[in-house]
Amino acid sequence: MKETEVVIMGSGPAGLQASIHASRRSKVLVFGRLEASNLWNAHIDNYLSLSYPISGQELLINSREKAKELGVEFLEEDVVDVEIKDGGFLILGEKEQVLCRALVMAPGMRHERLNVPGEKEFLGRGVSYCADCDCMFFRGKVVAVIGGGSAALRASELLTRFARKVYLMWPSLEASGERLDELKDKGVEVLPAEVKEIKGTEKVESLVLSEGEIPVDGVFIELGSRGAYELAMQLGIQLDPVSMKFIVVDTNQRTSVKGIFAAGDVTGAPFQLAKAVGQGCVAGYHAGEYVRTGKW
Ligand SMILES: Cc1cc2nc3c(=O)[nH]c(=O)nc-3n(C[C@H](O)[C@H](O)[C@H](O)COP(=O)(O)OP(=O)(O)OC[C@H]3O[C@@H](n4cnc5c(N)ncnc54)[C@H](O)[C@@H]3O)c2cc1C
Repeated sequence: MKETEVVIMGSGPAGLQASIHASRRSKVLVFGRLEASNLWNAHIDNYLSLSYPISGQELLINSREKAKELGVEFLEEDVVDVEIKDGGFLILGEKEQVLCRALVMAPGMRHERLNVPGEKEFLGRGVSYCADCDCMFFRGKVVAVIGGGSAALRASELLTRFARKVYLMWPSLEASGERLDELKDKGVEVLPAEVKEIKGTEKVESLVLSEGEIPVDGVFIELGSRGAYELAMQLGIQLDPVSMKFIVVDTNQRTSVKGIFAAGDVTGAPFQLAKAVGQGCVAGYHAGEYVRTGKW
């Protein structure tokens, strides 16, 4: 069995940045697959850089190389379970088991899928799960937001500032009449329709609805998200009481369980690279300090 000081669960931007900062103070091992990061398919234009757009893949690959140079060890497998053991943790990976003193949870979160034909095929070519990230690419275009909850309402409102036309589509919207009237006043067309298929050639071109087909340039799927609910519950980590999906952290990125830190999308919105990197830095720094000093 391997032994280390800090284990990081997740090799997205939060986990990689945590590994870089923790490696200055401690021995670090990272679990996770680079290509499973939400950043892998992204082209970013709202993060500090020398040139734009930034390729998510390049950023992830270069950052992992940097962390390796600093002595961080990587295991390209998922954590399947964590046990609290002798004041530390036993991390059970798909193949390896690792004992450690501190754990940084940075597993990101998964967007709920619409599960219609065309959704996977056009991801990044008109299909998006993040209005905040991609709104700029749809300036002057026609877009549809799919979803019936608060995420869909927020996305529709934001997109009215960029797109020429915004549809909000869902068979049964949760919003009050007043809220929908506000959106309509801003130019959102509300359609109580079910989406059956996303169609296009190189890029998204139209949506097939329960009745008819409409031309669109972009589709924002805003059905909410899933965090690391099960593992956090099992370890007794406090979750945000409203969503019951995201991990509650303090300003040092400490969770409610001694020795466990969390960073990135798993701590809730905004789901943004800049926030993941910032929280990763703080989590890695404090995880390293915790194993060095023993002070929580
Ligand atoms: C298409 C797209 C475009 C985007 N564009 C932008 C943008 O323009 N600007 C912006 O700021 N943000 C953008 N985002 C959001 C940004 O990608 C995320 O906010 C960011 O990646 C979150 O980082 P993270 O490290 O928390 O999670 P992720 O990047 O999702 O990384 C999670 C990591 O955890 C690993 N993992 C998961 N479960 C386990 C487990 N059980 N054990 C071990 N490892 C595990 C995964 O393998 C992965 O390596 C975009 C997202 C998408 C999907």
